Amino acid sequence: MSDLADIATGADFPVFIPGTVWLVGAGPGDPGLLTLHALHALKSADVVVYDALVSAQILAWANPEAEQIYAGKRGGKPSPKQGDISLRLVELAQAGKRVLRLKGGDPFVFGRGGEEALALVNAGVKFRVVPGITAGIGGLAYAGIPVTHRDVTQSVTFLTGHDQSGLTPSQIDWPAVARACPVLVLYMAIKHIDEIAGHLLANGRAADEPVAVVVNATLPDMQVLETTLGAVAADIVIHNIQPPAIICIGANASLRLALEWQSGAAPRSLNPLRHLAE
Ligand code: SAH
Repeated sequence: MSDLADIATGADFPVFIPGTVWLVGAGPGDPGLLTLHALHALKSADVVVYDALVSAQILAWANPEAEQIYAGKRGGKPSPKQGDISLRLVELAQAGKRVLRLKGGDPFVFGRGGEEALALVNAGVKFRVVPGITAGIGGLAYAGIPVTHRDVTQSVTFLTGHDQSGLTPSQIDWPAVARACPVLVLYMAIKHIDEIAGHLLANGRAADEPVAVVVNATLPDMQVLETTLGAVAADIVIHNIQPPAIICIGANASLRLALEWQSGAAPRSLNPLRHLAE
């Protein structure tokens, strides 16, 4: 670690100027998926404002002098209001601190990074954005699922299972999604998967379409549930799956049969997509 820390504090990195905020992605969990810019920010910040999905192992790399402020938002639990978090960032920056806003995954993917950035702009606070590996891509890769695969998935759609009111996204045009989106990657969708799968089935998607649910992706306790669109809602209940989880719906989910690399087990199928040719 010390060599890495030396690299990340070296002169090649942008200076973390006091009175600015860096909106930084911490990746999906495995500390090795942090970017060097993120590590540099951890080493240089005066204050780290972090989310629930940022692991203790990553926070341990922060400058020991830095103040650490928890700003976690978890569905259904009491949590700070978004406006209060944005205000706090502004106040800390205006007090002359180097403020690291550390978020799980990528700050601009279902992470409200855009809202916080707008609040900073409105307050005249300078900021920088450090992208991170998002759970819907990196987490799937750890489960042996390429998010795209030539000839199978020409497009990918990222969807959230929640809107601000905690309901399923009412503005989603489900018939259009079912028809035009071969691969769906769902964030925050465990609670409403029954309703979401129902919309997709009612609009023509096959009940035997492959689905993978990746829980605690990239972490030592990662679990992957392999199921189908028709069975996913019941399986999530049976297996008592809890967030955080990414749900991948589409033919590429079955590539895991051949590409699962984490367990070290032999591949179970060398042609997991054969059903597509039938
Ligand atoms: N900005 C984050 C997403 C935040 S929304 C990103 O880019 O990844 C929170 C949701 O992200 C969770 O409910 C879950 O759907 C997903 N998520 C984040 N980390 C995850 C992980 N390690 N394993 C599985 N899902 C994860």
